[in-house]
Parts: sequence; C-alpha cells; structure tokens
Amino acid sequence: MDKENPFFSKLERIPVAVAHGEGAYQNTLKALESINLEVARGKRVLLKPNAGRLGTPGSGITTDPEVVGAAIDAFRKVGANVAVGESPITGIKTMEAFETTGIAEQARKRDCPLIDMDARSCVEIDIPSGVVINKLKLCPEVLEFDYIVSIPVMKMHMHTDVTLAVKNMKGCLWRRSKVQLHMLPPYKGSNEKSLNVAIADMTSVLVPHLSIIDGSIGMEGLGPSAGTPKKLDCVVVSADAFAADAVACQLMGTRAEDVPYLRMGAERGFGVIDMDKIDVSPDNWTDWCGQFAKPPENITIEYPNVKVLDNNSCSACQSTVLLFLKEYGDKLFDYLPKGEILHIAIGKGHTELPEKTLCVGNCTARFKNSHNFLHGCPPVASEILKKLIGKTSYDSKQQDDNNGTS
Ligand code: SF4
Repeated sequence: MDKENPFFSKLERIPVAVAHGEGAYQNTLKALESINLEVARGKRVLLKPNAGRLGTPGSGITTDPEVVGAAIDAFRKVGANVAVGESPITGIKTMEAFETTGIAEQARKRDCPLIDMDARSCVEIDIPSGVVINKLKLCPEVLEFDYIVSIPVMKMHMHTDVTLAVKNMKGCLWRRSKVQLHMLPPYKGSNEKSLNVAIADMTSVLVPHLSIIDGSIGMEGLGPSAGTPKKLDCVVVSADAFAADAVACQLMGTRAEDVPYLRMGAERGFGVIDMDKIDVSPDNWTDWCGQFAKPPENITIEYPNVKVLDNNSCSACQSTVLLFLKEYGDKLFDYLPKGEILHIAIGKGHTELPEKTLCVGNCTARFKNSHNFLHGCPPVASEILKKLIGKTSYDSKQQDDNNGTS
C-alpha cells in the first residue's frame, strides 16, 4: 500500500464531488470524473466495498453492486489492475456475502477477481501513535496493493453513529481481530468510548487512497444491519476519506463533528472534516440532503418488553439480537407472561445477570449452567426464538437439566 496518495489535488480546500439522480452506476462514474484516475495506470487497485454481511441489493446493508461495477469499469478504463476484496464480520463467509450482495455477479461479468481477504495469514503492524491499541492484524492484501478504494454504503450505526468510508476500512482487519476493537476496556480518564478511540487509532495506519460512498440506498435508524433502507440516489467521492465522510454526514442530516471517531481522527490530523476547508461540487449539492433517522439510544424504546444487556460484545452479536428483535420482536408478546421483561445478555463483560436472562453467544458461556444460554459466535437470530419457544417458562435451566442438554 503506497503511503503517498496520488489522488490528492494540490488545491487549498479538499475537493469532494457529489453526483445525484442518475442511478448508482451513472452517479459513480460522474462523481469519479472529479478525480485524475490516470495515476492508477498499471497499478494494483483494491476495491473494498461493504460486503461484510449477507445484504441483498437495495437493503441498505451492503454496497450497491452497480457502484462496485462502475468503479471496476472506471479503473479498468485507465489501465489499472483491479480486484475486489472483503473480510466480513464474524460468522459470515466472504464468497457467500459477495454472491448475496450482487457484487460477485458484477465482478464475474467483468472477469474481475474477488478476494477472500481472510483466506491467508495476517500481517501484524504497529500503531506508533495508538491510544488504546498499539498493534493491528491486517489482511495481507492491504500491504500488497498499491491503492485501496473504500466503497461503503451510507449507514447510521447504533454504536458509532455512522459508518462510512473511514470505518469501512475496519473490514481490512483480519478475521476475528475486528472483534477486539469492540472488547477493549473503558478508556481511563476519558468519556470517549474505547471503540471510537480505537477506530481513530486504526485510521492512523489504515486510511484509503480514495473513497466512493454509496448513498444510492442507505440505512437509517438501527444500522448497521437492522435499520430501514433510505433512498438518496447519491454517490460521494473524495481522496480524503474524512472529507468524504463529512459531506456524507451532511447528506444524512448529521454532522461529522458529532461523530466521535471522525472528530478525534480529524483532531489528530488524519483527515479534514471542517466544512470550511472542503470544497463540494456541484454548488447545489445541499438540495439532496436527507434526514436519516438516528439510531435510538436504547433499543428498549422500540421493544418495551425487551431489555438488552450489552457488556463488551461485538457487532456480530449486536446484529444478531437486533435482527431477531426486528423479525420476531412483536411475536414475543405471545410468549412472554404479561408484563414480564425479557432480558437478553450479550458480550463477555457480565459478572452477574438478572434471573431468567437469556444469554446469547459464546461470550456469555460462563452463565450456561445458571441461565438460558444460546451458543454460537455469533448465534443465528432465528435460534433465539427457538430457544424461547422451546421452553414452557424462562426458567430454562431446569428444563435443560431435565433434557440433559445443559
Ligand atoms: S459470542 Fe458474540 S460478542 Fe462474543 S465474539 Fe462471538 S459474536 Fe462477538
């Protein structure tokens, strides 16, 4: 990975281009016209979409495949050697994710290689200026390709506010090392969440050369996987991932300064989020701003009979529980005694839990002899309901003991 970024212009203000209204493919090509892609001639270019989950096109969960197709075409046109790579969240197989997202089909049509970035051994690198992390395990491709292009989909995120070009690079962390960022102890002497500080740390060594943010259909509310698709029909392009994210934030109706990892990363000099230092084209781009619903602070607001106890979990278990609630939350009323609150625990940080708590995921295995426990890393969302339905009461230990399954 080249440390120098040839896509940067020498202009005083950071250029960001927004294209709107012509569909995912044309918007991408149009926004990319703002960049001198010629510098990529003969170079190895890794396109890193968000294909970290099994999201279908239009779901807002993963990058629109036509945005990826357009990026392949644009780089091929200037003679670059292009590949598409991903390392998904825990429990998702890379090639299955590429198929589900439609990205595999776009790549096949163009005979473009798809890379399972989890397939080989990792490369460990130091983070000299790290605050809460000082080493990272990277997928080896990150260091082998000349240029990396981050191609996220525009989403709200229940733990990091938004997920865009900067955070999409977390999908270059090798296999389960992604999970470690979610499991750091509290950052002493600071009110910042360790996860946000860790993402800022990551950015000191892992920033893309070019960002193409897919705002064709994004996700509002309970992102990154259980929110609602939101159509914006926009694509944002910049060589500065922070500047691209700042503009995308505004298109989503929020501010980069209010997103802790972007604010901290910009303060540490890894990119620019100050809109006074960013030059967005065309001038009327703010006409296309939408208002993405923010993630609720507490998901018990949405599901009043459920309380999720989250202590040092990772996004895979969070997504599992949210998908379960989204799909089966209403049905829970049928299975819960009137007025009873269902406690669901995820994460490895719990030392004690209320009686009858459903413990989800291997991180809660220490409670498997005392509570209702669902194994898996992550478990399958539909298994949570089965675990509940299979019981006559939530005092499942007794049943499990009777069945010899505990
Ligand atoms: S059990 Fe859940 S929280 Fe723990 S590592 Fe696995 S997916 Fe993450």
